This record gives sequence, structure tokens and C-alpha cells, in this order.
Amino acid sequence: MASLIFPVTSSSWGFTAHRHIVDVAIAWLPLQLQPFFKYHRSWLIEHALDADLRKHTISDEKPRHYIDLDRYGPPDSLGCVFPVSWSVAVDHWSEDSLMAHGIGPWHAQQVYKRLIHAFELRDSLAILRHAVDLAHYIADLNVPLHTTSNYNGQETGQKGIHSLWETQIPEQHQQSFHLVPMRDSLQCVYLVDMERQIWSTVLNSHSQLPSVFQCENEVRKQLEGQAIDQYIVRGRARQLMRSPEFVDAYHELLDGQVQNQMQQSIQVISSAWYSAWIDAGQPPLPTINRSNSTHWKKALDWLLR
Ligand SMILES: [Zn+2]
Repeated sequence: MASLIFPVTSSSWGFTAHRHIVDVAIAWLPLQLQPFFKYHRSWLIEHALDADLRKHTISDEKPRHYIDLDRYGPPDSLGCVFPVSWSVAVDHWSEDSLMAHGIGPWHAQQVYKRLIHAFELRDSLAILRHAVDLAHYIADLNVPLHTTSNYNGQETGQKGIHSLWETQIPEQHQQSFHLVPMRDSLQCVYLVDMERQIWSTVLNSHSQLPSVFQCENEVRKQLEGQAIDQYIVRGRARQLMRSPEFVDAYHELLDGQVQNQMQQSIQVISSAWYSAWIDAGQPPLPTINRSNSTHWKKALDWLLR
């Protein structure tokens, strides 16, 4: 069995990106898991954003999507600080302080453990709920701007950079992204140490912040004299966002960074689902009762509301 901590190579993402990441992650799963996940593909894609929606109803939800790593020291020192277990972190920084600066990596580990337990119980409802939530949190931690207190460029005069990076680029360029493994060895694999993998993911995202900010400033200089923002129609709303020309120029300067982070998300998500199943003892997955499927899905939606 292959095992791997994905190397340091290379948000909440927008609606389109979150859903696409879940969709492709299902396709990457090994054969043992594919029938179950493919059968529930529509549901998983539909619920890819549930974790974001819970921010409106659960007061503790918001800090589960990010961590302000700049609060813990300069970038080159963070590899010596983390991983830190939740209990040690609480002793050292206090729970209030941790909650104030984001608990993304710790919460993702907790959801991973819930997914293992759900597989052990062969509980379809729980497997789907924890799998889709885990996918969401891992995807968010692959967005560099989810690892800094300057998450929207508000401290550097770059307001709006958050949705520029994680929403506008995927919406404008996702069609051309190649979301296939970079090398055969980076396909869905068993992750021996989930805690280390999650922290490796977060530290990798954080290390990319300099280019996230510098490239945005560079595009401002390139487009000097032109309006950088314009009202963009999204669904039924008009929002002031970066112009399509700005998005194109930024994407080009980032040199595939957004695509790489989506790819990284997909690798870690499919591997985390697979690893949770292995850690649960590779149980047979719940049988799919196709005759009751419509009824069952309605009940599932009601329970997860
Ligand atoms: Zn999120």
C-alpha cells in the first residue's frame, strides 16, 4: 500500500470551485469506494457548501474554515511550531485565543476521526455528511488567504483579493484547468499521518502568500489608469469585483497557482476519504437500496437541514 505526505509544492473557494473539487475527488477514488461515492455524487456536490451555510446558524462554525498563521510567528518558524495537538495548543494559547484566530487544521482532524467512526458503523448518513464536510475544510485550507489575518487584503490596500483569488479566477478559468495527478505517485493514496498531512497542507498554502499579494500589486501597476473594479452580475446580484481584464492578468502572473491548489485539494480529499476507510478496517460499504433512493434522499436532506 502506498503512503505519502504530499510534498510542499504548490479557500473558502467559491460555489463553483467547491462543487468541482468534490466532483473530481470522487472520480479519483479507488475502485473499492467508487460505487458508494459515485451513487451519492449528486448529493455530495449539492452539499459541498453546507459548512459555509452553517456559519449563519452555528456561532462556532466560522473559525473552522481558516487559521491566522501570522499570529504564531514568521513563516520560516512555523514548521518548528506545528503540528501541535489541540490539547497542547489549548494549554499554551487558551481556547478563546485559538477560536479568535481560526481552528481550521484541528477541526479538519476532528472531522476525519468522525468519518472513520462513520465507516466503522457503516452509517450512510454519517459517512456522507462527514465526507463532504471534510472535503470542504481541506479545500479551504488550500487557499492561502485562509491562513492569514490579512485575508482580504484589508491591511495592505488590496481589499477584494479574497474573492478575486478563490472565486473569480476559478469562475473565469476553471474550464482550462487540468485537475489530473501531476505524477502517478500523487494519486489517491493512504495517508499514514493525517495530522501531519493537514499541517503540511496549511503551511504550504501559507508559504504562497507573498506571490498572492505581490502579483495583485503588479497587476495594479500594469493596469494603471484603468478601473480595476467593476460591477459583475452574479446570479441575481451585482457585485463590485475586479474587472475580467484584471482577473486574466492576475491569473497569468500567478502562473497556475489556483489550479495547483485545486489539484492539491483534490489529492488530499480523495486520499483522506480513502485513508479514513482504511483506518476503519476497510468495512464493506453500506448497500445502496435503489428502490428507496428518492425517499431516502429526501429523509437525508431533512435530517441534515
Ligand atoms: Zn468555507
